[in-house]
Amino acid sequence: MQPDQTPAAADTDAQTENAAGTRADETSSENGAETTTPEPVTSGRQARPWLLALLLAALIALLAYRPDWRADAATWARTTAMQTFNISPRDVYAARLRIAGLADSALGERWRSAAARAGEDPGRFSTRYATRGRFEPDTIEAHVFQTALERGERFQVRLLRDAPACTDCRSALYADIQRRDADSDDPNAWATVRMLGTDGEVVNFVAERDGDYRVVLQPELAAAVGYQLAMARGGSLSFPVTGAATRDIGSGFGAPRDGGARKHHGVDIFAARGTPVTAVADGRVRTGTGGIGGKHVWLSSGMLGIGGARYYYAHLDAFNVESGDSVSTGDVLGYVGNTGNARTTPPHLHFGIYTSFGPVDPAPFLRPAPDLPES
Ligand SMILES: [Zn+2]
Repeated sequence: MQPDQTPAAADTDAQTENAAGTRADETSSENGAETTTPEPVTSGRQARPWLLALLLAALIALLAYRPDWRADAATWARTTAMQTFNISPRDVYAARLRIAGLADSALGERWRSAAARAGEDPGRFSTRYATRGRFEPDTIEAHVFQTALERGERFQVRLLRDAPACTDCRSALYADIQRRDADSDDPNAWATVRMLGTDGEVVNFVAERDGDYRVVLQPELAAAVGYQLAMARGGSLSFPVTGAATRDIGSGFGAPRDGGARKHHGVDIFAARGTPVTAVADGRVRTGTGGIGGKHVWLSSGMLGIGGARYYYAHLDAFNVESGDSVSTGDVLGYVGNTGNARTTPPHLHFGIYTSFGPVDPAPFLRPAPDLPES
């Protein structure tokens, strides 16, 4: 908290001026360097190709010398390819089959269609699921586990590949989370949204869209691989009212307001006057009074990958923060009340989530956190 901070508007203006001033200074010093000191730049240009060649040679030597570094570099390259071009390791392996002339063989065709075949009758689950499985070298198949997620739900996955008998004979197990949009006409329009490691680390994935989601596991051709898999889904935010839970949400998102003239752009969480309301994410706050929200707080955060969400807390009885304060998840922002147009209703927190595309339903965000089962 920064209790002695100047009012928000003045604070913001000061920052803008500073930023502009700094930028102008940097530009002029850059120009100055280029025009007034040409000699060091020229000699630098002559030296640079040699230096680069040396560094590159050293890097190649190191990668040849250290197999573990080479593996890291390969992992990094694969991850980068996946993130930049949306190519998964499974796609890379499929491409290798094509290059080897195997893709159109009966084996290759069976390998490529394995996920689609398994996807026709996937293992389905609702909130949590754990299983152990195994792929045998004489079968060509994928294992698929499917669920439906709403925007704002958190999906947790932990995948552990069974320890292989020897490290050199280790063959790859490809695993990823795929999504099919809720309004998709094509039942096979699955797209990879996250790769999964096989080292037993918990992966957290927050759904940015409603849709069907599935975990697809598939080993290389002729591989013998066992695995342990655990999955759970739940909310992605901590509950904004201390001691309250989903059952205390009295009025949901989209309910009619003012005789249908507008819609409810949040949820109402009922609690006793004076109950603390807390930050659902790290960020900066701005307070306000008056209007239909009465005493309210805006919390801005870069989290959730939805273009920086803003959280709206309305009808507060009192504040515990001031505009411009930086807060951490769980910090008390204020206290439940019925200020603004809630004057005639029992005390409650009106809680809203706004993305750059407008308000979204907070309910899936506020469900109980995922509870990952032991696998
Ligand atoms: Zn409300």
